[in-house]
Amino acid sequence: MSKVLVYVDQLEGNLSSNAREALTFSKGLANSFAGNVTAVVIGSNVEAAANEAIACGATIVYRAEDPLLADYEVDLYLEALYTAFHQSDADILILPFDRKGKDLIGRLAARVQASAITEVLDFTVEDNDIKWIRPIYGDKAVAEYKATRKKVVVGIRPKSHEQAEPDNARAGEIIPVHLNLSNDIVVNKLIEKMESSLSDVRLEDANIIVAGGKGLGEREVFEDLQELANVLGGVVGASRAACDAGWVPTNLQVGQTGAVVAPDLYIAIGISGASQHLSGITSAKTIVAINNDPDAPIFKRANIGIVKDYKTVLPTLIEELKKKLGK
Ligand code: FAD
Repeated sequence: MSKVLVYVDQLEGNLSSNAREALTFSKGLANSFAGNVTAVVIGSNVEAAANEAIACGATIVYRAEDPLLADYEVDLYLEALYTAFHQSDADILILPFDRKGKDLIGRLAARVQASAITEVLDFTVEDNDIKWIRPIYGDKAVAEYKATRKKVVVGIRPKSHEQAEPDNARAGEIIPVHLNLSNDIVVNKLIEKMESSLSDVRLEDANIIVAGGKGLGEREVFEDLQELANVLGGVVGASRAACDAGWVPTNLQVGQTGAVVAPDLYIAIGISGASQHLSGITSAKTIVAINNDPDAPIFKRANIGIVKDYKTVLPTLIEELKKKLGK
């Protein structure tokens, strides 16, 4: 029987939506072994998050708490996660395959000599034999994977599961993780945090995203996208090509190596629709694409397509929406 540990990320004391999805996934997995969900929370003040993890289905929560864990630093979080994995004696570590998950999964797998399986959507269990199901070929197919090592680190694709709902009547046990942290282990150091008007955004939680791509031609057009997003009450996102051009910060990147989003409305402007971009928007409800190339792949996925130069569409769209929404 395999023992499962799930890493539940917290933001200012509350579990992230991805963490609550990972708890749902882990409950399903633990049920197939008739086992319980064991979770780990990491930070400088995580009691509330540990209790929330219990309310959301964990029976045991390992609490990795230290003032050095106040801000996310990959080396310190890696050490905390490694120590909790070891202390819990789990075989399988589940974590959301989001920004932090992507940072941690490979490093942790290398450190504990585990198999690493990313972007997992589901699993099957037969005679204690687990097969992990994940997308391949840019989401055109799925494949089953079997881990070759005893220990496995599994990254769950965000927005692929329901979020676990809290039941405050649930009881559980909180166990401190025996940490021995020091800044000496920090190899990747945060040197400076910079303010950016566009960067204070959690794309993963946004209901409306106005995303721009390389087809915008220049950085300044993102100010118009921000205006459109403001009118609609949404946020700005971008393709990797737009981020790579330095037009917007990389935390606005949507796609396989960026944020996986699930808005009600996704407006893609000057974005071709490469498979790596599309794999970040599979759960978007309505996609509107503005692109001057009728053969752009984004139109295969879009619910509404506008084949036009964005320069002729964007000003009118902003103006008309302002009138309609009284802004
Ligand atoms: P382009 O492909 O250059 O497309 C620009 C589009 O704008 C074109 O369709 C063009 O017709 C249109 N256009 C041009 N001018 C106008 C105009 N005036 N009006 C309207 N439309 C116009 N990409 C991501 O986005 N996210 C990821 O997470 C990601 N991860 C990756 C991971 C790997 C391992 C690799 C190899 C690639 C990844 N990429 C990712 C890159 C991806 O393959 C594409 O290169 C990228 O998405 C292209 O960005 P784009 O659509 O903005 O640019």
